[in-house]
Amino acid sequence: THFGFETVSEEEKGGKVYQVFESVAKKYDVMNDMMSLGIHRAWKDLLLKKMHPLPGTQLLDVAGGTGDIAFRFLRYVEAQHQRKRKRQLRAQQNLSWEEIAKKYQHEEDPLGGSLVIVCDINREMLKVGQQKALDQGHTAGLAWVLGDAEELPFDDDKFDVYTIAFGIRNVTHIDRALQEAHRVLKPGGRFLCLEFSQVNDPLISRLYDLYSFQVIPVIGEVIAGDWKSYQYLVESIRKFPNQEEFKEMIEAAGFQKVTYESLTSGIVAIHSGFKL
Ligand code: SAM
Repeated sequence: THFGFETVSEEEKGGKVYQVFESVAKKYDVMNDMMSLGIHRAWKDLLLKKMHPLPGTQLLDVAGGTGDIAFRFLRYVEAQHQRKRKRQLRAQQNLSWEEIAKKYQHEEDPLGGSLVIVCDINREMLKVGQQKALDQGHTAGLAWVLGDAEELPFDDDKFDVYTIAFGIRNVTHIDRALQEAHRVLKPGGRFLCLEFSQVNDPLISRLYDLYSFQVIPVIGEVIAGDWKSYQYLVESIRKFPNQEEFKEMIEAAGFQKVTYESLTSGIVAIHSGFKL
C-alpha cells in the first residue's frame, strides 16, 4: 500500500487481526489512553449518552474487547435504576432521603434486570476484560462470550441494543457483521457503532495525518515494543469507509432511520440505526 505496508488478502486479514489484538491485549487500555490522549473515554461516554439505556436493557457489545463499553453501560443503568427507585419510593411514601437510602440498600438487583454480553473473537482481550471486571467489582449483569461478529453465537431477535466500538473496521466482511447485528436485534432494537471516520477539516486532517503516521507507530514501539500492530491500526483506520458510505452499508443491511454524528472534526463518528 502507499503507506509501505504489506497488502493482505481477505483470508489473511482475520489471522492478522487476531495476532494484533493478542499481542496488544495486556497493554491495550494504557495504549488507548496514550494514543488518543484520553479522548477515547469521552467518545465512549457520548456513545452511552446517545444510547441512554433504561434499566432492563439487554445489550450486546460486539468486539467488546476489554469491556470499556460494558462497564460504562453497567454504571449508567445502575445510576438510572437508582434514580427510578428513589422517585418511586418518594412518590409512594413521604420518606426522608436517609430513609430512602436505607430502604434502597435492600434492593436486590441494582441493575433492574439489565444485562450486557461482551462478545469478542479474541480470548486474550476477553481475559483482560474479565480481570478488570473483578478488579472494578462488576460481577452482576455481565457475561463474556467468545464469538465472531460475522457469525454471532446468538438466536434471532434477542437484544435491545447492539454496540460495536472501534471493532467493525477489524472485521473481514463488514456487510456480514451488519447483517448479523440486524438478525440478533429485537424488532425496535437499536444498532450503535463508534468508529474512526473521515476528518472534515483540512487543517485538522493534516495534523491528524502527521500524528497517525509519525507518532502512533513510535508510541507503539516505545511503550508496547510493537511497531507493526500500531502500523496496522493506522492503516485500518484509513481504509474504513467515510460517514456517508458507512451509512449506506448500514441501510443495505436492513436498518432504518440511519443517522450519524461526527465527533472531534470527524476523527470518529457514531452511527445509529433501528431494526423496525
Ligand atoms: N470495543 C473495545 C473498545 O472500544 O475499547 C475494543 C476495541 S479493539 C480496537 C477491537 C476488538 O475487535 C478487539 O478486541 C478484537 O479482538 C475484536 N475483533 C476483531 N475482529 C472481530 C470479529 N470478527 N468478531 C468479534 N470481535 C472482533
